[in-house]
Amino acid sequence: MQYKYRLLTPGPTPIPEKVKLAMAKDIIHHRKEKFMSIMGRVQEKLRLLFGTKNEVLLLSCSGTGAMQAAVFNLFNRDEKVLIVEGGKFGKRWTEIAKVRSLVPITLEVEWGSPVDPSLIEETLKKDINIKGVLVQASETSTGVLHPIEKIGKITKRLDRLLVVDGISAVGISPCPMDKWHIDCLITGSQKGLMLPPGLALISLSDRAWDKAKGVKREDYYFYLIGEREKIKKGQTLYTSPVSLIVGLDACMDIFFSSTLEEIYKKYWALTQMTREGISLMGLECLAKTSYTWGLTSVVLSKGVDGVLLTKELAKEFNLYIAGGQDHLKGKIIRIGHMGDVDAGDILFALNAIYRVLKKEYNITCKDKNFLGKAYDVYEESLIKGYFDSTE
Ligand SMILES: *Cc1c(COP(=O)(O)O)cnc(C)c1O
Repeated sequence: MQYKYRLLTPGPTPIPEKVKLAMAKDIIHHRKEKFMSIMGRVQEKLRLLFGTKNEVLLLSCSGTGAMQAAVFNLFNRDEKVLIVEGGKFGKRWTEIAKVRSLVPITLEVEWGSPVDPSLIEETLKKDINIKGVLVQASETSTGVLHPIEKIGKITKRLDRLLVVDGISAVGISPCPMDKWHIDCLITGSQKGLMLPPGLALISLSDRAWDKAKGVKREDYYFYLIGEREKIKKGQTLYTSPVSLIVGLDACMDIFFSSTLEEIYKKYWALTQMTREGISLMGLECLAKTSYTWGLTSVVLSKGVDGVLLTKELAKEFNLYIAGGQDHLKGKIIRIGHMGDVDAGDILFALNAIYRVLKKEYNITCKDKNFLGKAYDVYEESLIKGYFDSTE
């Protein structure tokens, strides 16, 4: 007997039934009234989600496309940028910056640790030619949450742009753009937004728009000044990903039928529960203190092959989780708890991981009631509410 399909990866994530049904409808035309009214409605809610008074632009591409759009629209060739490299996605900023012919200064951070904001401050003070800081809110390859609020205070004071890849943070943990002085915030559809892949979202601050005006257009497709003009009319520059936007409308309905705080609380509680279960199983989380709320990265015991483990979980339990990337491949697993995931899914995943470790490696858990205790932590966390895990 096959178990129910469970997708607990840090993107793509499970999609709510309501959103799937909305997307299955006939395609409407992207220049007609009906679509423009959906765009208007979605735009209002996206501004609340991003915590900004400015437009949230919609691009037809995966999240990386929006990262590229940010770099190409905000910086001219040969400009210096400071990049926080604490994982695979931090490295991606550097790769894009190089393709753009920028001069990237990298701040290397151990994979699994958050960046120390005082190092950013020091580097920016030493070199007045650094125009901006590029960082992830949540580094999905390690499960680390970087202290964006603190970095925002520094970049604002020193008058540099703060560009944040919030792809695994927006809609999962607080990342209020205007309040935290973020100049560019990005996300993608297939993570916290509970949609299929293919749509990216990006918003710029007033300061960032001023900077963008002085940047030479060297990319035809990703042209943010043009997108901004169009979105004021409820449209995108080129043919819109209509089904994804209709799905986004349904998704925003779900988000705002409760409150953002309630959503964050759910992810916070799922995170606490997952971490508790993992620790009761005798395993360690990679991110010790500053951990992200949409996934948990778990360090495997010596001799355990993460690639084999994830394959077994798929085969035996129809459960899909992610492995490690680059030098962490095989050494860690990453359990996603973003999108339409609930406590039952996490209990199932913890149990499945335990069963495979026992069967394949004879690793047993001292506490037979680890699932019950993990669930207790879930309930307690829902009641207590969340706090800033980067503190
Ligand atoms: C998933 C992810 C990306 C990559 O997005 P794609 O949609 O695969 O292009 C970039 N940054 C972070 C932090 C992510 O989690």
